Amino acid sequence: MRLPERPFLSLVIDLNDGCNLKCVMCGPRANKRDQKVLPLPFFRSRIAPVFRHVADFQLGCACEPLMLPYLAQALALIGEHRHPDTQGQLITNGTLLTDATIDTLLASGVLSKIRISMDGATAATYESIRKGARFDQVCERVGRLCAQRTALGRPITVEFNFTIMPANYVELPKLIMLAARLGVDSVTTHRLAPDHLPFAPDDFLVAVTDAQERARELAKGLGVAFQPSRYRSQADYHAKPRSACAALRDRFRLDPEGFLFAQCHAALNPPTGNLLLNRLDEIVASPAFAAYRGCLDNPHPAQCERCLHFVTAEEQGPWADEAEGLL
Ligand code: SF4
Ligand code: SF4
Repeated sequence: MRLPERPFLSLVIDLNDGCNLKCVMCGPRANKRDQKVLPLPFFRSRIAPVFRHVADFQLGCACEPLMLPYLAQALALIGEHRHPDTQGQLITNGTLLTDATIDTLLASGVLSKIRISMDGATAATYESIRKGARFDQVCERVGRLCAQRTALGRPITVEFNFTIMPANYVELPKLIMLAARLGVDSVTTHRLAPDHLPFAPDDFLVAVTDAQERARELAKGLGVAFQPSRYRSQADYHAKPRSACAALRDRFRLDPEGFLFAQCHAALNPPTGNLLLNRLDEIVASPAFAAYRGCLDNPHPAQCERCLHFVTAEEQGPWADEAEGLL
């Protein structure tokens, strides 16, 4: 099968599976050394060439990517093979942003954004969620990353990614001030998933909306970009039936064994293909890939009811903007 000329794939990539923290919301995958690392020779021969077809990618999803033993080589290989329009970002917990790592990231030339997971604006809240991390140390490292980026004139956005939960949402305005102080350009939020309710309870909705509004005002004044999360009220949930899919198209998670998992609950299992065993064109021509696209083309309640990407027609545009990180 002939692949499209234009890059089309959206990849979230875990080349390793370990993490040095044990965050409260992360479950069993946290706080372990790498058990699986995609071998560098396989990355070079089987994965890197696929970047010709990748429209955007994020290094890091369910692991800490700065633990990858061949991070610099991986970024260099991506740079060698990517399409000129490929957009790349990396998400990290920020604890391993040493001077050497900062140099590697800033010199790679393939990252337009570096995201740091920051779920609190005080040591007490942050350290109670991101267990194993030290707030002051991460702030100091992020500040150095921003300063170095600016000194070198690299066109890279540094962003805080804030996972909203009952334990931390009141600190959102304070996080905007912290971002401004450290030189962080942008703060994005996402609702904690899995979410046991497809709507927010009324009292939480009022409180979180207030915190987000105050954060928005502060961000405007301080020149920090801010993306709030959208919550649906129980009344809206019952009054406005959902019928559309806001998931990004052709978005897959690549795991350390080469498997591609569709970022769609209905098509998540089994994996859509394996890039170590099959060529990309074979995967795109496979019945599993057609079944995945069929899910996205025909969203319906029986298939999508529990999915955070299942939205009303009027929500589709705005909710698609924050689709990333919702699964
Ligand atoms: S930093 Fe990310 S991968 Fe690591 S434990 Fe926390 S949430 Fe999980
Ligand atoms: S389960 Fe439905 S709403 Fe969710 S990503 Fe798949 S098709 Fe879209």
